[in-house]
Formats: sequence, structure tokens, C-alpha cells
Amino acid sequence: MIIDCHGHYTTTPPGVGRWRDAQTAAVTADPAHVGAKGEMAVTDDEIRQSLEGAQLRLQRERGSDLTIFSPRASWMGHHVGNEHTSRFWTEHQNELIRRVCDLYPANFAPVCQLPQSPGAPIDGSVAELERCVNEMGFIGANVNPDPTGGFWTGAPLWDRYWWPLWEKLCELDVPAMIHVSAACNEQFHTTGSHYLGADTTAVMQVLTSGFTRDFPNLRFIIPHGGGAVPYHWGRFRGMALDNNWDFDEAVSHLWFDTCVYHQAGIDLLVRVVPTSQILFGSEMVGAVRGVDPETGHYFDDTKRYIDAAALTDAQRQAIFTDNVQRVFPRLQVPREQP
Ligand SMILES: [Zn+2]
Repeated sequence: MIIDCHGHYTTTPPGVGRWRDAQTAAVTADPAHVGAKGEMAVTDDEIRQSLEGAQLRLQRERGSDLTIFSPRASWMGHHVGNEHTSRFWTEHQNELIRRVCDLYPANFAPVCQLPQSPGAPIDGSVAELERCVNEMGFIGANVNPDPTGGFWTGAPLWDRYWWPLWEKLCELDVPAMIHVSAACNEQFHTTGSHYLGADTTAVMQVLTSGFTRDFPNLRFIIPHGGGAVPYHWGRFRGMALDNNWDFDEAVSHLWFDTCVYHQAGIDLLVRVVPTSQILFGSEMVGAVRGVDPETGHYFDDTKRYIDAAALTDAQRQAIFTDNVQRVFPRLQVPREQP
């Protein structure tokens, strides 16, 4: 059983974008706009069509069985509008993911986005997490460490601001993937620098603060192969020794996915990071959609790199299956076949 811990619904039917465009236009015209949740016009057939030729086909072709699936990350857009904007949009996006998982229970398991908004209290996110997990069977959440979209003016992850969310994640026994959304600061390219910078930043915030000691059950997935972290593992360990930061304690709360799109990067990842902290992920269909002319294979066909890496069968089994099940205890495996 091969479980991909990192997939987004990037191929949504046109009704999703239309709803969001109308909402964005309204809140751009009036920044205090509240509006209403309303209806998002998307049929089950449109959902099937949007997945059959994309994520489902790629699962079959590449040999993965199940994708842990969340709303399109770059569209979370927590910086857009106000708290109400984020809430209505998030509820629709999460309900759409639930529909996908109801249509294809064997292929997808649901992870939610949260209605974060710059300056807004975290309570709304806690409430949506609770709704998604308790009422809709979600197994995890994506948490945006920078809802400003690249300006980083909010509270760092160790700040008390976040603690009600960390408490709720622990209480519900679900992990969070630390995942930013689109950058609206032109200094950053969304998937090139903002994503990888945020991954690295999150790890440093955990390491320097040690706040995870107060949350023994808190589990963070650091996507995109952990940003710069595996490559600079020695730098982080060295800084930890110089400053009395507990490196091993920090790492025990962190899992790194395999969304590194070349063999040498995966070879480094699996050599440096303990196998117990690596989760198979591809982020397909996502940031890099083309074929590598050097190999003739899709860059984001990450299973291929794990298959070719210097790993024992037991290590491969841990990365493909066992670790994901430990990190997502609410994930039911085997899946019910449709
Ligand atoms: Zn992602």
C-alpha cells in the first residue's frame, strides 16, 4: 500500500474559480464586505471529470494507492479580504474535498485548510478544524505559518497566539502540514522561494523555541522535502549545540515529505533524515508538471526516486506506508473499495 501524504485539488471544476472570483471582486470593492457563503455550483460529474484524467490517472500510472488530499494550497489565499472572506471560502473548499473523498473513498483521504486571516483570532481556525475532523471525518489540516502571503507580519509558530490550535490538533490527534499559500509579495516566487523559505522558517521556529516540548503529541509535516533543512542538516545541528537547542526533540515532532524532484535530492534526504521522519509525497498535480529531459520521466513522479534510492525493503515500507499511518492515526487502511 503506497500512501501519498501530499496532494492538492489543483484541477477543480470552473464553478470553484467562479465563486472565488466573485467573492474576491466583492471584497476588493469593499474591504469590509461580509457577503454570504452561498452556493458553489459544482456537480459530481464535474468532480469526476476533473480527477479521472489527472490525479486518478497518475495514481494508476505511477503505482500509488491513496492520496491524502487537501484544497489547492496556492488558492487558500488567506491574505485575501477579511476573516469572513476566508471563512466562507474555506468552508466551501473543505466541503469540496469531502465530496471528492465520498466519490473516491479508496483513492483519497481528506485534509482541510483553515480560515486563517491576518490579524484575526485563531478561534475560527480551531472551530473549522473541529468541524472538519469531528463532523466530516478529516484526518489532518494544512496550517499556513504566514497568512499575510509573504510579509510575515503575524505571530511566529511558538507564540501563544497559536496555542489553542496546537491544543486542538493534539486533542483530536491529527497532524498539521505547515504549508503557505500564494505569495503576494513580489520578492517571492510562490512555489520556488516562498514555499521552501516557509518550510525552513517553520523548522527553525520549532528548533529555536522548543515550544513543542509543551505539546508531546504535536506532529508537523514539513513539505517540499523540508525546504533547505536536509541539505543544511549540519548547520542546524551545529547551531543547536552552540545554543542549547534540543535538536532531537524538535525533529521528533517533524516529518519531511519526498517532494524533491530529482534523484540526488532524494538520495540526500534519505541519507540525512532518519527514515522514521520521512513520508512519501509527490504533490501531484502541483508545482512542477513537466518531464525531465534528462530522465524522460515526470519530475513529480517521486515514487521512482524512492524505488531507486539506497534503502532496505523495511525502510521503503516505512516511507511508503507505515510512517504515514503513524502520523495520521485517523487514516483508515485498508480502504473500502468503491
Ligand atoms: Zn502542497
